[in-house]
Amino acid sequence: MSIPSRLSKRFALRLAPFLILTMAGPVLTVAPAKAAAADAAPPPAFFETLRAADLRLATIAYRLTTSNAALCDRLQPQIGMPIHALTQYAADSRADAAAAFGFAATIGVEAVVAGAPADRAGVRANDSIAAINGVAQPGLPVSGAPEVASARDTAEAVIADAPPARPLRLTVLRGGRTLPIVVTPVTGCRSRFEILLGSGLDASADGSVVQIGERFFEGYTDAEIAVVVSHELAHNILRHRARLDAAKINRGLLAELGRNGRLIRETEDQADLLGIYLLANAGYDPMSAPKFWRTKGGAVDGGLFRSRTHASSKARADTLEAAAREIAATSARPIIPPVLATRDTPLR
Ligand SMILES: [Zn+2]
Repeated sequence: MSIPSRLSKRFALRLAPFLILTMAGPVLTVAPAKAAAADAAPPPAFFETLRAADLRLATIAYRLTTSNAALCDRLQPQIGMPIHALTQYAADSRADAAAAFGFAATIGVEAVVAGAPADRAGVRANDSIAAINGVAQPGLPVSGAPEVASARDTAEAVIADAPPARPLRLTVLRGGRTLPIVVTPVTGCRSRFEILLGSGLDASADGSVVQIGERFFEGYTDAEIAVVVSHELAHNILRHRARLDAAKINRGLLAELGRNGRLIRETEDQADLLGIYLLANAGYDPMSAPKFWRTKGGAVDGGLFRSRTHASSKARADTLEAAAREIAATSARPIIPPVLATRDTPLR
């Protein structure tokens, strides 16, 4: 877990090495040579690369949250429809973003997860959203409107706060027409997911949002990304952020010391363990977790799971392999593992 931020869709160095990256929250250092090219317009390919990565994450998230609903005490309707706001894009690239994503209002459908409720109801990528359950969403932003993610956050909250089992009524704008579309959701764990643009091999969970560094979407398979997403989702399901806060744990410079280090390590081990059950319940091969730590652990150790607050990659792989063997011997799904019962116990 590291510092969360509500980010906007600016352009990351690796996906698009032509724009300087800044965001609310962590400020990334950019080499001067790259910063000099900061004003170039993003090519259309950037937006399609972003859409493809967001769809991969949304597909993994849909599968994990819906298959594990029985393990979650906080639920929401899951519809498999990542949305974004035109105002998340830098003002000088909004015309390009609008052309790529067809924004006819502030909120747009970036993609739809194949076979998920939005897809089954006929929602399409590049539809715009005028209303959700009768709650009007903003029209097109005025030119030069500030770059913020608040409109997206508000729209996602309307969906998350709706009763999980009730049909969701969307008013969709498509090709100049207004279409009412009723989506029948699937109940899933309550969590939001987003790609952390410009980061390294980093991931975090703050209790409500799971963030996965964009570099995972270059060179990592969906099964490997699912290992990371399941670990972070496990932190949210187990309410680790709130419980560490309640225990007054320092996640900063003192994180490795004494009681801080011991309790953070405890939450990390629990997230590893619950994560592998989340994977198995979602139909992923649980052996993909130990395999990930054996083959990719060296690469992510320095960023994602740095420091002594996490077990070494080899220790994690060994522990998870034993768990994966036990899981493989059980055919019933979902498995509700004992570690889930720690959710309501104060950390001390
Ligand atoms: Zn963790």
